[in-house]
Amino acid sequence: MSDTTHAGLTIEITPGVDIPAHLVGEVQSKLAYVDERIRAAEVAPSGDRITLQVQAEEDTPQLQAELDEKVQRVIDTMVKGAFKPKIQVLEDHLQRPTPYNQDPMQELVARGEVSQEATGMFSLGPLVTRLIDYFEDQFLGLADAFDANPYRFPTLIPAKYLERVNYFSAFPHSLSFVTHLREDLDVIDEFAQHAACDQHGLNTPPDSFAQVQALLSPAVCYHLYFSLADQPLPNGRLAATAVGSCFRYEAINLASLERLWNFTMREVIFVGPKDYVLKNRENARQHMSQVLEETGLAYRVESANDPFFIGEFRKQAAFQSAFQLKFEIRARLPFEDSTLAVGSYNYHQDFFGRHLNISLPDGSPAHTGCVAFGLERIAFAFLAQYGLDVRDWPASVREAVHG
Ligand code: ATP
Ligand code: ZN
Repeated sequence: MSDTTHAGLTIEITPGVDIPAHLVGEVQSKLAYVDERIRAAEVAPSGDRITLQVQAEEDTPQLQAELDEKVQRVIDTMVKGAFKPKIQVLEDHLQRPTPYNQDPMQELVARGEVSQEATGMFSLGPLVTRLIDYFEDQFLGLADAFDANPYRFPTLIPAKYLERVNYFSAFPHSLSFVTHLREDLDVIDEFAQHAACDQHGLNTPPDSFAQVQALLSPAVCYHLYFSLADQPLPNGRLAATAVGSCFRYEAINLASLERLWNFTMREVIFVGPKDYVLKNRENARQHMSQVLEETGLAYRVESANDPFFIGEFRKQAAFQSAFQLKFEIRARLPFEDSTLAVGSYNYHQDFFGRHLNISLPDGSPAHTGCVAFGLERIAFAFLAQYGLDVRDWPASVREAVHG
């Protein structure tokens, strides 16, 4: 079924099997990667209807058939045989009273506190930057509590590193590739004379670019694991911390400060025996529970899974859930009555220890875990709960930001 609007076409698809409530969000986010012509996608909360906004001149049976086939493929792969994970709630402070209930974006833009360069790319002004610095101070306090050593990592990550930890099959959709002009005088001259942007981007022919050797890094902790690869872990345990730019291409899901292509992550990372990693992950949660209470944030900590791509999703999400590998700090967004992950407590078992050959003194592979915070997101969630008027903020945040 379809009808034409001036913005394009609206196409409705009936899923071959109903999408259960716990998978509605996961399926919807994957529809962004189904076809370049899809401009918006929505799965009805009841899971029995999908509405696509499609950029196309005219509605044809062929267009419908192509989209239907791809969408059903996503649904079949993600839904069939999936079981409902039992959500474990470790902390629930979602009802903590907060004074604000608007979307802060409009006011942030109006005040010049946020300016958009392109989809998923934002510059931040002084108030938001100071607020992020305040949260960074809290995260550095967390790192100090574990005597974590500071590290700095590159923004680029070698393709061969990501290959070694199966990143290409787990998260292919969100990768950002880096290249440069081939080292060829003709190619470079040609580019210098003719490079120009049209509405789709640079007009440069693809064969002017060198083969991809590097990508923009999707996470911080991977760099630490790679630096420890193929050797025994010195002292048999390590606590580390680092902040870095991370990149995840989220297509039409990129929206305001909630979901960025280019964002910043602070991590506290533990490498060592299983007990050491799990105990520290739990201690970190308890430490952060006190910190977050002081910031006044309304949130809940609950079990979660990573956004694996379609083919990997069912198996990997079930695995993460069964072994309680991931817990997210989900802050309330009052203006849309939803929650947003502002951080996560992760345990990778000995996955990196095995794939990267990081060994403990007894010869067994090291276990790893990390506590990761999205800096733009935690600031955004705070502003969504407290607004831009610092007089309404909890005293500790107000004093830190305004002196
Ligand atoms: P893992 O150890 O499982 O690989 P990770 O270290 O990659 O985890 P995530 O849980 O994937 O960490 O991400 C950490 C935090 O980064 C999220 O809770 C969120 O706050 C932030 N984040 C992730 N993706 C985005 C995005 N597209 N835009 C803004 N912030 C993001
Ligand atoms: Zn991590």
